[in-house]
Amino acid sequence: TTLENWTQTDEYFNSFLLSEDPVLDATVKNNEKQGLPDIAVSAAQGKFLNLLLRSINAKRALELGTLGGYSAIWLANALPEDGEVITMEVSEHHAKVAAENIEAAGLTNKVKIIVGRAIDALEKLEPTPPFDLVFIDADKPSNLAYFKQAKRLTRPGGVIIVDNVVRQGKVANLGYTDPNVEGVRELVQAIKTDTEVESTVIQTVGVKGYDGFLYAFRK
Ligand code: SAM
Repeated sequence: TTLENWTQTDEYFNSFLLSEDPVLDATVKNNEKQGLPDIAVSAAQGKFLNLLLRSINAKRALELGTLGGYSAIWLANALPEDGEVITMEVSEHHAKVAAENIEAAGLTNKVKIIVGRAIDALEKLEPTPPFDLVFIDADKPSNLAYFKQAKRLTRPGGVIIVDNVVRQGKVANLGYTDPNVEGVRELVQAIKTDTEVESTVIQTVGVKGYDGFLYAFRK
């Protein structure tokens, strides 16, 4: 199968299961207009995160890697009125575009964007109140550092998702050694003996190609 086939299949199921959302469409358009890279989660993946938050009755979510706020909007839409998404972004331009999109979505009071290197902000973040879900989707070489912080900040029974851990199969092919691939390997190596989480990786295909995510349950 090919990207064309995966895209057709995403479109097929989305036509039954995802409603039209002018706000999310406007976000995608604005991101493109402002020159952001096309690396946000897909609509189906955004909805998956949204449903996951609702399933665990989440009130607070933390995201590393805001880009234009597309996934942050999916997350925020899953939370109650008094819920909160904190999302961290190093690029001032990305953060500015995200702020525009979040404003247009009417979600300004649910989403807080922290601009700067995620690790710096994370180290300062207090674990109270804890997060129900952490979505790690920033620079991949820092995956393990982010995961350690995520564990500190997530309530027992909460979930940590790490995106893009399959990388078209490159992570499992030891011939590849680029820093993004190594960032994932370092993470799973550490999780192997980590007694604070129980984890699995799900490979995915779709409009965004072949990749996958790590799902960790915080014990
Ligand atoms: N979660 C977004 C979505 O689905 O809409 C996509 C995030 S994109 C894959 C990764 C983002 O992480 C980029 O916007 C990039 O600027 C940001 N980033 C890279 N290094 C970072 C760092 N050290 N701290 C915070 N953000 C970083």
